[in-house]
Amino acid sequence: MKIAIIGAGLAGLACAIECERLGVIPDVFERDQSVGWIWPNAAHFLNILEREMGDIREHLREVYGLDLKPLSELRSIIMKSPGQETKIEGRLGYIYARGKCKESLENQLFEALKRTPVHFNRVADYKELSPKYDYVVLANGKDTGSKELGVWENHFLVHIRGGLVFGSFATDSSTIYFNKDYAGKGYARLAPLNATQALVGLCNIGCGEFETDRFYADLVEREGLAHLEFYCKFSMPVFSCGSVTKFQVGNILLAGRAAGLTDRLLGTGAIEAMISGIMAARAMIHDLDYKSLIEPIKRHLENISALRTPFESLDNKGLDRLMLVMGAPGIKQAIYNTGMNFTDVVGGVLKKVYH
Ligand SMILES: Cc1cc2nc3c(=O)[nH]c(=O)nc-3n(C[C@H](O)[C@H](O)[C@H](O)COP(=O)(O)OP(=O)(O)OC[C@H]3O[C@@H](n4cnc5c(N)ncnc54)[C@H](O)[C@@H]3O)c2cc1C
Repeated sequence: MKIAIIGAGLAGLACAIECERLGVIPDVFERDQSVGWIWPNAAHFLNILEREMGDIREHLREVYGLDLKPLSELRSIIMKSPGQETKIEGRLGYIYARGKCKESLENQLFEALKRTPVHFNRVADYKELSPKYDYVVLANGKDTGSKELGVWENHFLVHIRGGLVFGSFATDSSTIYFNKDYAGKGYARLAPLNATQALVGLCNIGCGEFETDRFYADLVEREGLAHLEFYCKFSMPVFSCGSVTKFQVGNILLAGRAAGLTDRLLGTGAIEAMISGIMAARAMIHDLDYKSLIEPIKRHLENISALRTPFESLDNKGLDRLMLVMGAPGIKQAIYNTGMNFTDVVGGVLKKVYH
């Protein structure tokens, strides 16, 4: 069986690993000269969003054979609104590196490949590859192909700015900021890479592209981050949050972000990208229905996305009240320190109420 994979990102690499495991060696095409985004990032795998998995790291290892080493365990999240602050503690999840560094998720997946050729510096086009291969997996991390195929539905745009800063950081603690003035319906965060380096990121929803630099400056000033030494700042391409109406068109299977598998609460999708790549491999090689394999992932992401519905209508005062409620001991206990599948229970209800 001849399989082409477009993109050596999380979805494409996980797909290639699973293809190998099932005895098929695919061709992977990557436009860059190596794996990983050019900008560094710290991805959070949050237990609260993936309760059905139990411990996410163990789940990925035991169920999907992906043994991925985090930078650190996440043991505290500080949430700040303009006038309130609340801290959550516990075994909250993991922080993973993204990008070109050797510990990154992409490099760990790449190292796990044994025989698959990754053709670097190759900008691949699914239209050219489709007649030459039995299957093409479109895992390019973009909406462009899905739009061309007529299956993409746009929800909103996120403008992202980031900065790598030097300072002194607890490696197991991240801070998340909610403030309508600079983040709109989005958020900002300070996430550690190690004890001396962290990332200050802004995901603004609702502003125009040209305002984002000003809002980033506001974030730095208002949250008292100006004392940190900014090593570099980066502007990521505008990120469209969307979903797809079909996961497969002819012999082309969509995986990862190309399949709209990013949640609309925090914009995360790393875990779903990897699992969708694995499902694509299983569907192609075992002749299974890809849609049925991927639907539960989409449903779960829709439940996460539904959590943002009440949050969207709040102004800064409302955000302060929300922080107070989130910090109340009973609520904290119920949400973070029980085994309740918060996302699917609460998100599922909100989805029914609001949509
Ligand atoms: C700025 C940003 C920050 C994010 N932060 C997080 C986060 O913190 N946590 C989280 O869970 N999710 C995050 N996400 C969501 C993200 O979509 C997923 O984490 C994940 O990267 C999706 O995996 P993917 O394989 O679909 O795409 P990617 O990981 O982006 O991989 C796509 C690959 O395809 C390659 N490519 C593109 N076009 C071609 C082509 N024509 N030919 C060959 N190769 C090509 C690219 O170079 C890249 O290597 C973020 C997304 C963005 C844009």
